Amino acid sequence: MTSNEIRSQYLNFFASKEHTIVPGAPVVIKNDPTLLFTNAGMNQFKDFFLGNKVAPFKRAADTQKCLRVSGKHNDLEEVGVDTYHHTLFEMLGNWSFGDYFKKEAIAWSWELLTEVYKLDKDRLYVTIFEGDASENLPKDEEAYNEWKKWIAEDRILLGNKKDNFWEMGDTGPCGPCTEIHFDSRPDEERQKVDGKTLVNNDDPLVIEIWNNVFMQFNRLKDKSLEPLPAMHVDTGMGFERLVRVIQGKTSNYDTDVFTGTIAAIAQITGHHYNFSDTKQDIAFRVLADHIRAICFTIADGQLPGNTGAGYVIRRILRRAVRYYYTYLNYNAPLLHQLVGVLAAQFEFVFPELKQQESFVAKVVKEEEESFLRTLEKGLKKIDDIIDACKGANETVIEGKLAFELFDTYGFPIDLTRLIAGEQGLFIDEAGFETELAQQKARSRAATAIDTDDWIVLKNNEDVTFVGYHDFHVPTVVTKYRKVKAKGKEQFQIVLEATPFYAESGGQVGDIGTLTFSNNNEVISVVDTKKENNLIIHLVNELPADLDGEVIAAIDFTTRIKTSLNHTATHLMHAALKQVLGAHVNQKGSLNNSEILRFDFSHFSKLTDEEIRAVEVIVNEKIRANIPVVIKEMAKEDAIAAGATALFGEKYGDTVRVVTIDPDFSVELCGGTHIGYTGMIGLFTITSEGAVAAGVRRIEALTGAEAINFVANRVSQFKLVTELLKTKDPLKSVEKLLADKLALEKKIEQLENKQLAVVAKELAAEVEMVNTVGFIGADVEVSSQDGLRKLCSDLKGLLANNFVVVLTANIGDKAAVAVSISDDVASAKDLDAGKIIKQTVSPLIKGGGGGQKTLATAGGQLVEALPGVIAAVKALIG
Ligand code: ATP
Ligand code: MG
Repeated sequence: MTSNEIRSQYLNFFASKEHTIVPGAPVVIKNDPTLLFTNAGMNQFKDFFLGNKVAPFKRAADTQKCLRVSGKHNDLEEVGVDTYHHTLFEMLGNWSFGDYFKKEAIAWSWELLTEVYKLDKDRLYVTIFEGDASENLPKDEEAYNEWKKWIAEDRILLGNKKDNFWEMGDTGPCGPCTEIHFDSRPDEERQKVDGKTLVNNDDPLVIEIWNNVFMQFNRLKDKSLEPLPAMHVDTGMGFERLVRVIQGKTSNYDTDVFTGTIAAIAQITGHHYNFSDTKQDIAFRVLADHIRAICFTIADGQLPGNTGAGYVIRRILRRAVRYYYTYLNYNAPLLHQLVGVLAAQFEFVFPELKQQESFVAKVVKEEEESFLRTLEKGLKKIDDIIDACKGANETVIEGKLAFELFDTYGFPIDLTRLIAGEQGLFIDEAGFETELAQQKARSRAATAIDTDDWIVLKNNEDVTFVGYHDFHVPTVVTKYRKVKAKGKEQFQIVLEATPFYAESGGQVGDIGTLTFSNNNEVISVVDTKKENNLIIHLVNELPADLDGEVIAAIDFTTRIKTSLNHTATHLMHAALKQVLGAHVNQKGSLNNSEILRFDFSHFSKLTDEEIRAVEVIVNEKIRANIPVVIKEMAKEDAIAAGATALFGEKYGDTVRVVTIDPDFSVELCGGTHIGYTGMIGLFTITSEGAVAAGVRRIEALTGAEAINFVANRVSQFKLVTELLKTKDPLKSVEKLLADKLALEKKIEQLENKQLAVVAKELAAEVEMVNTVGFIGADVEVSSQDGLRKLCSDLKGLLANNFVVVLTANIGDKAAVAVSISDDVASAKDLDAGKIIKQTVSPLIKGGGGGQKTLATAGGQLVEALPGVIAAVKALIG
């Protein structure tokens, strides 16, 4: 059975058990502060379990891309080292929302595995929760009794809280679970050692394939458990592991999910995959795994970056680069060459990759190139560190330096250890660990959000958003809680109905006020955010009395300005497609009351003509005063009508379609807009640049902001014209610049003449130190070039047997040049480059370098310059 068939069979099986087959959610999560990436199939249903929202179906099944490299579930260090943990994997899942429970879930799991997939019953084991006294949780007798109907009792094992009580995160839905394990050892092995002793014991051949969770509790912040409003089933089966046991393999990488990628890596690198645990084979597995995580997260709209989700992707990519660089001896970009293999393989399962293949490859290649440069720099850095250690007769590399290599250059400690070991040096491991722990603590403190439990005033399942038409409504508070982030305390309030737009789709959240009727207290809403389906109003203080009617009112002016920008963004998106081509896809956007910012895929800088063409089109559409027509319709109908949907965006079955002239702009969008384009008044682009490989960013202004911008430009122009006393300022400025260049040349010539005189004076003052002619002097020059010129003049005058050290104060910065004649350099083992690095740079608190015979440095400490001359002189002595 191919992996594609196995996936289809799973979905068909649960469809036959009356499950609705749903699409998986994007792997990158956009509106949940507790999770960066989907880490389990149940994430997208969290609200159904918590009772925040009513599920539109009683039963569902899907395949869900999951990523487990951050947060509670982090498998990164295992990946590639073992053969069954991946960064990104597909989790097959079936769910009951307050419908069937343990009996059906267990019976169907067994039926699917043994009758549809025909797995050997003798190789299967199951575990159930043994109970936990500290939490007052009983043993899961019900699951035990259900399993008894299907499997021999000695194959039902008891498991502890760690393995058999599943929790999504520190808080949230959870419950006891029952796992299914498969023993794929050869028969002789199985006769020797009983399989049940190996379950949940990290044996690579006895692995968990499926987990059935019985959601019964909500974990609160104080760690206590509260029962959920209803009981649910949540299951997750690792697709790659399932394929492996069905295909009779002992490693996920030997299944058709991975063999195509592995063959491609072998072809590119010229190495063979030997199914072993050598570093080289681990490298094959790391690459085959990581490229999937990289491709699918980028296809979902998340670019590699320096923070949050972007940083997680960057780390995965760098881990892969390190592995091929070190263990496959490949030092050019490699991963981007694998994108096509995956795009083809998943074309009909996850088509978003095929659709963006060249974009994804370009982003990956650029990341690889930049990290390879960093790696090279890191190798130089480590050479310097080793030189310095040897120079100082040290055998231990400071933990701080090893950490810098790790943090700045991406060198893992084992690589540094390896290189240092080759030179007979050691690393201060404890020092390194301390630095690492400190950094972890810093980043935890920076991102930690401390959230109290909700205080519920009124039970209510769906929040009604009325803000497309109403800007203030009477309503009531349904719940609220305290949150603390970065030391700042705020409160989150949920209302029964609200006109406040919650930040999403690039549009910022509304601000405004809540007026509490009981004592007319007015509280400012400073931001509005979404958490899954909840609309959360952020306030800095709570009113004295939260009960009774509340008037929720948004700041109307801010909202209108934001809407102008949002509507203009749609116009610009369509105009960009017209001017640049259909490959333009939105990659990010920001609409607030001041600016609009738009990131989109495009491979080169926009020319002035292209920018002008976009402005012309958008302003034409503004002057045409086109009505903005908004309709709700079925998603299929919208797509068929040619609406632009975004990759990695989660849309429901009914979508909101914003049309500005059906022949011009039709987009799926949940944002707020103005009624007619004419209200925008004026649109003007203020900047264009690159944000990442293949992604450009435009910033633009609308309405009063645009008019102000243009008016300011006009008056600046007028001032310049007056200053230059000319009718043609362009020509005048060109002439000014040409004059300046000519003057600079002249000054340089004069200085050179003067320096020749100085050189003669210095040459007359040679002092013999240890049989070498030494000149040490502080001189007046205007640049480092002046120092170099003096050195070269002196070389002409002295010919050989000299060491020259010149210092200068250039604009309150220290500058130093050391020049050594060829004969001295070779005979006396004096090296100008080393002197500059090891002796001069530390003294002046700076850096520099050069050759054996000429080197220069710059630094902070001008007052240290006399000491420099003395120190170099001492070296010759
Ligand atoms: P393990 O103990 O093997 O790490 P888990 O207890 O973390 O598994 P669950 O959280 O119960 O696993 O996830 C459900 C299923 O998803 C597992 O039974 C397994 O088949 C699969 N799975 C979990 N983590 C990974 C991973 N990193 N790569 C591939 N499959 C995984
Ligand atoms: Mg795990």
